[in-house]
Amino acid sequence: MALIVQKYGGTSVGSIEKIGKVADKVCALAKSGDQVVVAVSAMSGETNRLLALASEMSEKPHSRELDVIISTGEQVTIALLTMALLDRGCDARSYTGTQIKMLTDSTHGKARIREVQCEAMREDLDAGRVVVVAGFQGVDEHGRITTLGRGGSDTTAVAIAAALKADECQIYTDVDGVYTTDPRVEPKARKLDHITFEEMLEMASLGSKVLQIRSVEFAGKYNVPLRVLHSFEEGSGTLIALEDDKVEQALISGIAFNRDEAQLTMAGVPDQPGVASKILGPITNANIEIDMIVQNVGADGCTDFTFTVHRNDYEVAHELLKKTSVELGAKAVIGDDKIVKISLVGVGMRSHAGIANTMFQTLADENINIRMISTSEIKVSVVVDEKYLELGVRSLHEAFGLDSDGQLSSLAG
Ligand code: ADP
Ligand code: ASP
Ligand code: MG
Repeated sequence: MALIVQKYGGTSVGSIEKIGKVADKVCALAKSGDQVVVAVSAMSGETNRLLALASEMSEKPHSRELDVIISTGEQVTIALLTMALLDRGCDARSYTGTQIKMLTDSTHGKARIREVQCEAMREDLDAGRVVVVAGFQGVDEHGRITTLGRGGSDTTAVAIAAALKADECQIYTDVDGVYTTDPRVEPKARKLDHITFEEMLEMASLGSKVLQIRSVEFAGKYNVPLRVLHSFEEGSGTLIALEDDKVEQALISGIAFNRDEAQLTMAGVPDQPGVASKILGPITNANIEIDMIVQNVGADGCTDFTFTVHRNDYEVAHELLKKTSVELGAKAVIGDDKIVKISLVGVGMRSHAGIANTMFQTLADENINIRMISTSEIKVSVVVDEKYLELGVRSLHEAFGLDSDGQLSSLAG
């Protein structure tokens, strides 16, 4: 007998018919003798509808009340799925995040899970019941409803799997696994049978929204075997697990991209100690996350300072920078919110030089100008103009042999 935690995303529970199909699947698994916990998302489009409703009511909705409204989508799904299970003769019970006690901190809109209480779930499982939990939501120490950030139901499922020490956490969605890149951008993308936590974490952090970043962090930290599968098609999906020495590692596992970036430059700043902190201080004080940073020192003793932020933060960051530039006596502030980041990810990079250069050459061959570069042990990221996203991703996908079975032989040797 295994203990399995399953998560069904928005499109998988997007209609009464689909919820019925999910119930058939869950029921069959429970009847085979396995213990099952199911975490569900809101029906597709519902969270966006609720967010729009809140925006209609208030220009800047209070974050606490926003969580109250957007958490209702998942409550509808747990009730519908549980009804469907009961109708099929499968004993089941639904729980909201508050009922289960998915304890989080109080950061509304992106709360972090602190603790998952298991007693009620264990009792149900031992009594042969399927436990259906609302994804995406929690409760803070004051009893207030919180949410975990967009895509947060993945993290609900992994947190429950970690707390119950489940045998596997299965993320059911509208693709049959994790691909070398988003199949919506590159139809030649290839499904991966397995990927390491570390690589998946980079992919998610660099923009692959197939899994929420925190769910991968959690799975890695507690070593929860995580599998991404198609809700309604047979297949073994993609297993995300620890690095396996026995499996020959691919050079590059995937290409991630992020359209939500914007770039800001303060040009001609006198080059003195403390400049970076003076430029970035007001930005971080405004709670704006900074991604890439590049500083160039020119021959004239002045420096150009460039960084990227989330596109939603672009206007505010631009205004703040203009103010600081006056104080610092900089020559100009230049901004561009039509940029994207494309990244290559792979643990194989550790042992192979030349990946970055092949990347740069491939982009150059397509006449794509690189604006910024950043590297770490297992990734290389570049910032390019937004209009080159598709071309960039597809040419790199081909150059690194990702749409065929083999890796680029000249590098693999
Ligand atoms: P759900 O509603 O089930 O949580 P999501 O929309 O959050 O589903 O995630 C699935 C989507 O992630 C896919 O439809 C796909 O377009 C996108 N995606 C982005 N990058 C990848 C990738 N590398 N592999 C697979 N899917 C990806
Ligand atoms: N319903 C939430 C969202 O749309 C959470 C999730 O689907 O994981 O982001
Ligand atoms: Mg999702």
